[in-house]
Amino acid sequence: MPGCIALIVAAGRGQRLGGGIPKQYRRLGGEPLLRWTVQRFLAHPDVSAVRAVIHPDDRPLYDEAVSGLAILPPVDGGETRQDSCRLGLESLADQHPDTVLIHDAARPFVDADIIARTLGSLAEHAGAVAAVPVVDTLKREADGRVAATVERGGLWRAQTPQGFRYGEILAAHRAASGQSLTDDAAVAENAGLDVVLIEGSEENFKITTEQDFQRAESMLASGDGGETRTGAGFDVHRFGPGDHVMLCGVELPHDQGLVGHSDADVGLHALTDALLGAIGAGDIGAHFPPSDPQWKGAPSDVFLREAARLVADRGGRITGVDVTLICEAPKIRPHHARLVARVAEILDIAAERVSVKATTTEGLGFTGRGEGIAAQAMATIEIPRA
Ligand code: MG
Repeated sequence: MPGCIALIVAAGRGQRLGGGIPKQYRRLGGEPLLRWTVQRFLAHPDVSAVRAVIHPDDRPLYDEAVSGLAILPPVDGGETRQDSCRLGLESLADQHPDTVLIHDAARPFVDADIIARTLGSLAEHAGAVAAVPVVDTLKREADGRVAATVERGGLWRAQTPQGFRYGEILAAHRAASGQSLTDDAAVAENAGLDVVLIEGSEENFKITTEQDFQRAESMLASGDGGETRTGAGFDVHRFGPGDHVMLCGVELPHDQGLVGHSDADVGLHALTDALLGAIGAGDIGAHFPPSDPQWKGAPSDVFLREAARLVADRGGRITGVDVTLICEAPKIRPHHARLVARVAEILDIAAERVSVKATTTEGLGFTGRGEGIAAQAMATIEIPRA
């Protein structure tokens, strides 16, 4: 039974930022904006599942944005944000989580502390809203002139996430259906629920304007979006009878095969270990024990996809992989482009982020004697700061 489900509200049609697509699907640091936001919640230990509320027309954009992520199927939103939230909440009736976090798709910089603080408050309160105090002096305008100075004491700017006990916020939304309220906290307030303010952050801003997008791009470029980690992998398989070898997911004709429990693809095995290494998730043998018959003859892209999924589950993004194949034969260079394209396809990343190289050992050692093939790999990922 899920404790907390995060509901990401992504049904808006806002296209004012150009590109002809709603802003939540526009690319930020090379990835759709929605993907960054979803990953923040998937990576949080207190969040058991994530669901997005989307516009039905956006389904292809949505599928691309969350490709490879372990997210619940999306649900269609309604005419207004309030309708979309209610429909999202109704869709969780089967799961009946203890709590929900409702969050704007366009706030990708929500951090783990804000999520934890919001959830933590729900032990004592029916609702909790991330917010920042108003620090600027407020003016009321009339005809372009200052008509009054508004006392700012006690005023806060509400952000998301807004967290609630599930049963209470669902009932509040049902009761408010037909009214027009600005956010979920207002819906809760309307129902007389006890809603507390918790500390949000200036970084948790909502991307609305072109300027916001540029600010977000520069935050990512300066590393505010996370930290860089690397992992290394190494693997060897010996030659045996056969007429081809599998290398980096591609079948290459050869007068020998490679011996192994799976398809013995040394390149993908080294790369799988490199990705697992980057997130400290053990090694390929621990995830796919050779003693387990289900991996007998398995295509090794299964292992690599699983490692990539584990990276994505932690909110990580693969920024570069580099595989070195070490053998005298077969010759790798004629097949280089296919190997790169195949690795990029398996990992669902751009080919420019993939490097596959080959070298010999000048006739020395076991690879030099043609007894087998070795491979080493490095993987670099960006991951939210712990
Ligand atoms: Mg191996």
